Amino acid sequence: MLTLTFLGTGAACPTLDRNVSGLALTREGETLLFDCGEGTQRQMMKYGVSFTFKAVFFTHYHSDHLLGLIGLTRTLGLLNIFGGAERQEPLLLYGPKGAKRILDHALTVGIEKPKFPIEIVELKPGDVLRRGDYDILTCETEHRADTIGYALVEHIRLGRFNPDRARELGIPESPLWGKIHKGEPITSTTAAPSPRPSSSARRALAAPW
Ligand SMILES: [Zn+2]
Repeated sequence: MLTLTFLGTGAACPTLDRNVSGLALTREGETLLFDCGEGTQRQMMKYGVSFTFKAVFFTHYHSDHLLGLIGLTRTLGLLNIFGGAERQEPLLLYGPKGAKRILDHALTVGIEKPKFPIEIVELKPGDVLRRGDYDILTCETEHRADTIGYALVEHIRLGRFNPDRARELGIPESPLWGKIHKGEPITSTTAAPSPRPSSSARRALAAPW
């Protein structure tokens, strides 16, 4: 299951009902954040988004997409005080050109030091992050800054092979079964089922605004 939670859709002009930019994607228990406007941690509390997320993906560095990182990392470093487990696992920050300089600068605002490892990864359009059974693709976008868009693309999942149906169609148990299961065409003197996976790829997108 894949859930998108809009933490902020007000861009640089928040209202009482809409925070500045932020989006949480939850996929089968894993949470990823896309952009991090001011007060993102309060929006996460309000909408029940887990603090055990592993990564933040920045579309660009206009301040309404970025300033929340300062407070969020401070809050993550204090979770043990509020009854949570102390964060040990690294936090990954991804962003377009300028990531290391700009995000590192944001992380050093104030006198606190992050209490857990933070890794900054600079991406360019066309980069692909392989993540288990899905990929994060990056693409060019149009905006008044160095920007990047993201797409979460699920790997195609193979359906369950039906051996009885294969036998009915006269296809002998052989490597042909493996080919059919993977969706590859086969040549046979008898009819064969259409090689079609049981579920198509799912996509979720995040782009700057
Ligand atoms: Zn912008």
